[in-house]
Amino acid sequence: MRIAVLGSTGSIGTSCLDVIAANPERLELVGVTAHRRWELLAEQCRTFQPRWAVLSDETQHAAVSTAQASSTQWPSETELLVGPDAVERLASHPEVDTVVCGIVGAAGLRGAWAAVESGKRVAIANKETLVVAGPLVMQLAAKTGAELIPVDSEHSAIYQCLQSGRRADVKRIVLTASGGPFRGWSKSRLESEATIERALAHPTWQMGPKITIDSATMMNKALEIIEARWLFGLDADQISVVVHPQSIVHSFVEFVDGSVIAQLSPPDMKLPIQYALTYPERWEGISPKLDWSAVHQFDFAPPDLDAFPALALGFEVARRGGASGAVLNAANEVAVQRFLDGSLRFTDIPRACREILNAHNDDAHPTLSELLRQDAWAREEMLRWKS
Ligand code: MG
Repeated sequence: MRIAVLGSTGSIGTSCLDVIAANPERLELVGVTAHRRWELLAEQCRTFQPRWAVLSDETQHAAVSTAQASSTQWPSETELLVGPDAVERLASHPEVDTVVCGIVGAAGLRGAWAAVESGKRVAIANKETLVVAGPLVMQLAAKTGAELIPVDSEHSAIYQCLQSGRRADVKRIVLTASGGPFRGWSKSRLESEATIERALAHPTWQMGPKITIDSATMMNKALEIIEARWLFGLDADQISVVVHPQSIVHSFVEFVDGSVIAQLSPPDMKLPIQYALTYPERWEGISPKLDWSAVHQFDFAPPDLDAFPALALGFEVARRGGASGAVLNAANEVAVQRFLDGSLRFTDIPRACREILNAHNDDAHPTLSELLRQDAWAREEMLRWKS
């Protein structure tokens, strides 16, 4: 299987390369992409010798050229392509079978779209693709025959649980949430004590800063509600969220007879990544295994909707559809950036997103370009937002 990894230098990308390295006879890395971390990209190319490497940020090209001229830093087996269009060319290349979409944020949409458009197997870790353009992406996949296999741990869990019953017999799905670093905090404590350092200290998952902040606000779960709504073709009221601080039960499906099927494993992204590559097969894995000779305790509790208002935004957007997903996602991306820059307080993130969502122009069946226009509008609104 010939694999292209979009966002190979990020958290999903590096885990994916670990999975490929563990299965060298069956998995072949043919393409990698990074935005600007070209040193790590070059190192990956020296190790895996893919045919193509893409650097999507053109401003980094000069640095690479200098390095190439002065040393043997860039491996000769790999052709270097530059610019955002090159990500799409790689994702749709006929000599690529499977595209792993690991680029964070709305920036990942174009590559994922190109992969779906060319009918690939698409291992989708970029939740924004479905949050922003869920109905369009699912329609396109149905048309081209692209196989969308989720990598997000909760959605991979749901996907695995769904193998045990008919889709028509699903009563609802339950997404688990770790609760993040502020689990158990009240609204007023969050107002005064939720600092950047505390928000970045996630108790169970090692991830990039954007998704770590999203976990702290629970906006990550809101985006996952929307992602699940489109990926699995469910109504918003068939989706629930439960807080499970151990992050071992990755989500579950309740069938109409009352049976609940769950997927469990230690928190490690290599498992859902590998499953998306090997489905419907399962291969020997390199992720840690649960030790059933030890004592385990699993807790489940309803989320605190008052302290974490982002969750309500997720359910609302899953119900509304249209451009609301694009607006919420874009507003949140800028809000997280502003929080990390110190120009927005933690509790302003969901507050500002709520105001911008309320102000957007509703459009029931937007085109992709309309979605991108609304995305740009929401970003500008969030840059200007003042409490
Ligand atoms: Mg997740």
